[in-house]
Amino acid sequence: MIFALIGNPNCGKTALFNQLTGANQHVGNFPGVTVDGKSGAIKGVKDCTVVDLPGIYSLRPYSGEEIVTRDFLLKSKPDGIINIVDGTNPERNLYLTLQLLEMGIPTVVALNMMDEVAASGGSIDVKKMSESLGVPVVPISAVKNEGVRDLVNVLLDTAKKKILPSVTDFCEEGPVHRCIHALGYLLEDHAKRAGISSRFAATKVIEGDAEIVDLIAPDENELEAAEHNIVEMESEYGMDRHAALADMRYTFIEKVCSATVIRCRESKEHRRSQAIDKVLTNRYAAIPIFVGAMFLIFYLTFEVVGYYLSLLIEMGIDKLCLLTEAGLNTLQTNPIMISLITDGIFQGVGSVLSFIPYIVVLFFFLSVLEDTGYMARVAFVMDKLLRKIGLSGKSIVPMLIGFGCSVPAVMSTRTLSGDRDRKMTILLIPFMSCSAKIPIYALFTAAFFPQYKALVMMALYFGGMAIGILFALLLKYTLFRGKPNPFVMELPNYRFPSPKSVLLLMWSKAKDFLTKAFTVIFIASIIIWFLQSFDIRFNHVDDAGSSMLAAIGGIIAPIFRPCGFGTWQASTALIAGFTAKEAVVSTLGVLTSDLSMIFGPASAFGFLTFTLLYTPCVAAVTTIKKELKSLPATLLIILVQCLIAWVFATIVYQIAAACGG
Ligand code: GDP
Ligand code: MG
Repeated sequence: MIFALIGNPNCGKTALFNQLTGANQHVGNFPGVTVDGKSGAIKGVKDCTVVDLPGIYSLRPYSGEEIVTRDFLLKSKPDGIINIVDGTNPERNLYLTLQLLEMGIPTVVALNMMDEVAASGGSIDVKKMSESLGVPVVPISAVKNEGVRDLVNVLLDTAKKKILPSVTDFCEEGPVHRCIHALGYLLEDHAKRAGISSRFAATKVIEGDAEIVDLIAPDENELEAAEHNIVEMESEYGMDRHAALADMRYTFIEKVCSATVIRCRESKEHRRSQAIDKVLTNRYAAIPIFVGAMFLIFYLTFEVVGYYLSLLIEMGIDKLCLLTEAGLNTLQTNPIMISLITDGIFQGVGSVLSFIPYIVVLFFFLSVLEDTGYMARVAFVMDKLLRKIGLSGKSIVPMLIGFGCSVPAVMSTRTLSGDRDRKMTILLIPFMSCSAKIPIYALFTAAFFPQYKALVMMALYFGGMAIGILFALLLKYTLFRGKPNPFVMELPNYRFPSPKSVLLLMWSKAKDFLTKAFTVIFIASIIIWFLQSFDIRFNHVDDAGSSMLAAIGGIIAPIFRPCGFGTWQASTALIAGFTAKEAVVSTLGVLTSDLSMIFGPASAFGFLTFTLLYTPCVAAVTTIKKELKSLPATLLIILVQCLIAWVFATIVYQIAAACGG
C-alpha cells in the first residue's frame, strides 16, 4: 500500500515521515525544504510505503509544489492520505483538508504539534472534530514520537477497509451547494471515467482548473451548462467563483473549530516569537543583525573552533604520513611508489580532509539558525531587497541552500512559481559561495592573511553576493524584464533547535565531504601526482617544472597573468577544480608544500576572487543543464561565470598590487 503525507508547509510532515520510516530526512523550521516527494517503507509494517510530499496550502496548482502533490494524488492513486494538520493553527490547515476530502481517497487527519497545543493551555476535542470532518483524527506529536503508532493503526484500518471520507458536503444549502451538486450530476459519468470523484470534478471545474477539465473532457454543451450554473451562483452569492468556494470552506471550518478547539490563550511560543521578531525583523536593525550574526559565525568557525580542530587533524595526518613513509622505507619500497603515496595521496586527500572541521562547524551554526526559525525571517527581510533586483523573497531559499551546495540549490528552484523567477534564480546560485570552496579560502587565508581570517571570509561571501546582485540587475533590465511573482510565507514560531536534526545535517555534510575526498579527490590527486612526476616521454622528473603537467598548465597560464597568478600550478589547480572545488586544494597540496612560492598576498586575493566566481563544478553544471533543459544556455553560463571571474580577479589583483600587495 502507498500512503501520501500531505499538509501545509512547516507542519511537521518530514518529522512524521522520519518517525514512520526511521529515515533521516532533513527537518527544517523553514518552508520549502522538501521539493521532491521522498518515499520510504513504514517501520514494522509489511509492504507499506509512505511518500513525503512538499508542503502546500491548497490544491489549486499555483506553484511547483502544488502541482507535484496534485499529480501524485491523481496519477499514483495512493491507498490513503495522511493529512497533517498543525494543531496550533487548525483554521488555516483545514482549508487543504477540505479539498483533500473531496477527492474520495481514504484519509486520516494527523493532528500534529499537540505538545505545543497542550503547553499553551489549549485543547482540541478530537472525537468531535473527527465526527464533523467525517474522517478519523489522531492527535500526535511528530518530534516527540507520541501517537504515531496509533496513527499507523488507524491508517491501516481505514485503508484496508477502504473507508472513504463520509462528509463531503460542506454546506447544506445555498447557491454554492446547489451549483456544486448540479455540476456533480452533470459531470458524474465523465468523472467516473477519469477515476476521480464527481464532487472533486465539480469544484475543479468551478475553479477553472484547466488540467482537470482536460482530464474529464466534458463536451461543449456540458461546459456551457456548467458555466451557466456557475455564473448564476456568482450573481446569487454576490462573490466571484473563487471567493465563493473559499467562503463556503472557511464558513464550514469556522463551525468545526468553534465547536472543537479551545484556545486558552495565545500560545507561549507565538507570544515569545513576536517579541523576538520586534527586534530581529525590525526595519532598521534586521540587516545589521543578520550581517553581525554571520560575522560572528565566520569568526567562530574560521578563527576559533574550526581552526583548532583543523590544526589537530592536520597534525594527525602529518604524523600518519611520516609513519607510513618510514614504514615503506624500511620495507625498501620503490621510491616512486613512496612518492605516489606520500606526495600524491597523503598530500592531496589529506589537505582536503583537514578542512572538514570548518565545514562541519559552519553548518552546525547555520543549521541552528535554520532550525530556530531565524532563516525564515531572513527570507522575509530580504524580500524587499530582492524585489529591487527583480526577484522575490522566495528565491532566498534556493540561494541559502546554495551556500551549502549548488546541486540541491538548483533543484530547489522547482518550488518557485514562474519560469522567469526560476531561471533567474538558477543563474544567481553560482554566486553563492558553496561549501566545497571553504577549503580553498581556509588554505589561502591561513597562509596569507592569518590576522584577518573572518574578515576575508566575509569579504568573499558578501563579495560574491554583491557581484550576484549586479548580475541580477543586468538581467532584470535585459533578459528578464517583468515582475517577480508575489511571495507569501508564514513565519514559523521560534523553536529551540532539535539536536537530532542539527547533528544529522552536520553528519550529512561531513559524509558528503568524506565521500568526495576518497573518490574524486583521491583519483584527482593520483592523476595530478602522475602528471607532475613524469615528462611527456614518461621519464620520471625531479623538477616538476619540466613535467607533463607544467607543459599543459603552461599553455593556459598566460591567460591568468593579469589576475596575478599566471603559473602552471595555479592553472592546473583551477582546471582540477572543475571536477570538484576541493580538488583545487588537493592539487596545490600535491604541487607545492609552500604556497608563497607561487602566490603573494595580492595574487592570493586575486586567486580567491577567481575561485569564488568561476564555473561551478561538473555536478552543478549537470544539474543546471537538467533544470534549464538547454545545453547552449548551460555552456553560456560557464563562459559568463569564467569571464566575470577573470574580470573581477584582475581588478582585485591590480588594485591590491598597486597598493603595494
Ligand atoms: P515540513 O515542512 O512539514 O516537512 O515540517 P518539518 O518536519 O520540517 O518540521 C517543521 C518544524 O516543526 C521543525 O522545526 C520541527 O522540529 C517542528 N515540529 C514538527 N513536529 C512537531 C511537533 O510535534 N511538536 C513540536 N513542538 N514541533 C514540531
Ligand atoms: Mg519537509
